Amino acid sequence: MNKLYLEIALPVPLRRTFDYLANFQGDPNGLIGCRVQAPFGNQTLIGIIIGVKAQSETPADKMKDVHTIIDDTPLISHLDLQLFSWAANYYHHSLGEVLHASIPQKLRQGERQEHEQRISAWKHTAEGMGLPETALKRSKKQQEIHRYLLQNTQFTRSTAQRLGFSSSVIKALKDKNLIEEILVKDSIEQVQISNSLLNNTPLALNQEQTAAQESVIFHRFGAYLLDGVTGSGKTEVYLQLVARALQAGTQALVLIPEIGLSPQTVGRFKDRFSVEIAELHSSISEAKRAEHWQAAKSGRAKIVIGTRLAALAALNKPGIIIVDEEHDLSYKQHDGFRYSARDICVYRAKQHNIPVVLGSATPSLETLNNSITGRYQHLKLTQRASTATPPHIDSIDIRDQQLAAGLCESAIEEIRHTLQRQQQALVFLNRRGFAPSLFCHHCGWQAKCTGCELPMTFHSHPRHLHCHRCDRQNGVPRACPSCKNQAFSHRGSGTEQIELYLTKQFPNTPVIRIDRDTTSSKKAMQKLLEPAYAGTPCILVGTQMLAKGHHIPGINLAVIADADQGLMSADYRGVEQVGQLVTQVAGRAGRASSTGKVLIQTHQPDHPLMRVLIAEGYNSFAVQLLAERKHSGLPPYGYSALIRSESKRPENALAILQLIHGAIKNTGNKHTITTIGPMAAPIEKIGNRFRFQYQLFCNSRKELHATLKAVLSEVEVKAEARRTRWSVDIDPVTSA
Ligand code: ADP
Ligand code: ZN
Ligand code: ZN
Repeated sequence: MNKLYLEIALPVPLRRTFDYLANFQGDPNGLIGCRVQAPFGNQTLIGIIIGVKAQSETPADKMKDVHTIIDDTPLISHLDLQLFSWAANYYHHSLGEVLHASIPQKLRQGERQEHEQRISAWKHTAEGMGLPETALKRSKKQQEIHRYLLQNTQFTRSTAQRLGFSSSVIKALKDKNLIEEILVKDSIEQVQISNSLLNNTPLALNQEQTAAQESVIFHRFGAYLLDGVTGSGKTEVYLQLVARALQAGTQALVLIPEIGLSPQTVGRFKDRFSVEIAELHSSISEAKRAEHWQAAKSGRAKIVIGTRLAALAALNKPGIIIVDEEHDLSYKQHDGFRYSARDICVYRAKQHNIPVVLGSATPSLETLNNSITGRYQHLKLTQRASTATPPHIDSIDIRDQQLAAGLCESAIEEIRHTLQRQQQALVFLNRRGFAPSLFCHHCGWQAKCTGCELPMTFHSHPRHLHCHRCDRQNGVPRACPSCKNQAFSHRGSGTEQIELYLTKQFPNTPVIRIDRDTTSSKKAMQKLLEPAYAGTPCILVGTQMLAKGHHIPGINLAVIADADQGLMSADYRGVEQVGQLVTQVAGRAGRASSTGKVLIQTHQPDHPLMRVLIAEGYNSFAVQLLAERKHSGLPPYGYSALIRSESKRPENALAILQLIHGAIKNTGNKHTITTIGPMAAPIEKIGNRFRFQYQLFCNSRKELHATLKAVLSEVEVKAEARRTRWSVDIDPVTSA
């Protein structure tokens, strides 16, 4: 028995690891990546062993023994430990918390790993094997299984489910002594025969798709931007790239934006491939998530598909990584360990020496810049795959115009014409509820959230007031709390109001509203959209949920009710996001055979960048925006970090930022790092907590990170750091 020091990463905010003593026999290096239970203060925590050493700097009287070592084989591989150490360092976050974020809750809580379990499978008996292919004519189902076994020798329960072999038919064959049950090692159920990989035949790629598909080189690191207009067949290219990875005996990791938004993509992978697919996203139960994570780790699942959290999943042998809609903001984690799933994927591809494909119709400026500088290879799909031609985009100047539910006369006329032509229309507004503010017409009283001190959104069904920042919900007062009059009025419009108005205008046409209030479940959205898919005339009204991923061929008109939200935003990324949104919404229009139309309602019809977007498309728009960013040294030409703090006591929230600010000014880098703040955050208060922020910009990534590292380790142990909630956001995507 040897006494060893274990270096352990614990799920605590401190950016450091902890040494513990343990008794151990055997090869101590086998311990790295295993979970342990260790005492910490007066609690017991589950951490990960990241190193084994003969000496420790921890004083002997402070040294404690670990309680138990949970795993006998590592949960986290060496390569993944390297990944997470890099990520912890890059995002200035505690390694223990990073590791915790990467594993499913059940395993975080100490549940045992499933080992290479043996699972049951079916194969022919000697008698069954001798039977000719044409036998069993009387039962088509039995014959189907018999034929499958002649070709593939065996199938597991999951294969049976996939192929629709029912248990009664299996039992019938067993009773005839034609097949028998055996135990096979689960993780080595190989992809054997290429024709059993696919459920349906791939489409014949067009020239551009072929060129893109063939440009991707396997078994070597390479980052590719698949820049293809909506409907240009990016997904088909992904599918065929994944098939290549599977044929090479490797896995594919596929990232998609928030699941509710693109239910169809997962479906297309499931339809195409007959291999086990592990889904990882938040609408999957904890038990399933743990199961899928382990299927990805063991290599049993050949395809791992999910939202940003899938970027952290353990993989056995990845061969390709695909990030669909790479510009999507949902790839950035917005609390705790604030990683960018896209950037993690690029790092992992480098680690594993494999290709990573970033696809988008509206690439982020970061990715576009990387392809301009040649770091990423730029693959373009300029044509829509089907016969559809790109839609015609126009802006409508709504200055001085009378609006009804936020829509101007000409937009309503266009909707009418579209319906008369038996086509479908879409109205996009990124604001749910009936109206963003409710006030008293007599005295001016306004319904405000007491926690955030900002107007509450008025919802009419069910009738209530809702604060979309802190989620507080109140009833609508019967009379004005201030003057007792009942003269309520509202200002602005939300999706509910547009829905109501259009229902009145077009009583014979279904108006379908898609927003968070109508689609609490994934199924609800699919159900609501059924009439739209059926192709009969209808109007869709929705928030950004509707802007993404849906292929509704009958939509011929898209109206963007308010482009000003982003154009007038104080955040420098506002304009980029409007450009992406307009282009994505435009992608919804005219997907079938006729040309579609997009109308953008705006008070800024002369906005120079919007004019470029309309006249020349997203690419020219993005190139001009890049020039502006370069001029002002903003990302991707500079690097930024945002430190946020919040507290019920504003002075506490401010104190930590001032401490950091002081420490930065004391370093040698005060000339190269530009700072803004400390100052109040754009939303100054949420749910009774006052919010502040401090921004840093630097044209050297290295310098920014070195400075932050030094400063954070200095301040995190101070009393001010413990009195308030604060966080570091590297490469932030929003300043909210
Ligand atoms: P994207 O992902 O770029 O939006 P999709 O891959 O969804 O585009 O393709 C849009 C439509 O075109 C889909 O209906 C798809 O089936 C079809 N499509 C894609 N590639 C081809 C092809 N090579 N031949 C015929 N149809 C195609
Ligand atoms: Zn009043
Ligand atoms: Zn609130």
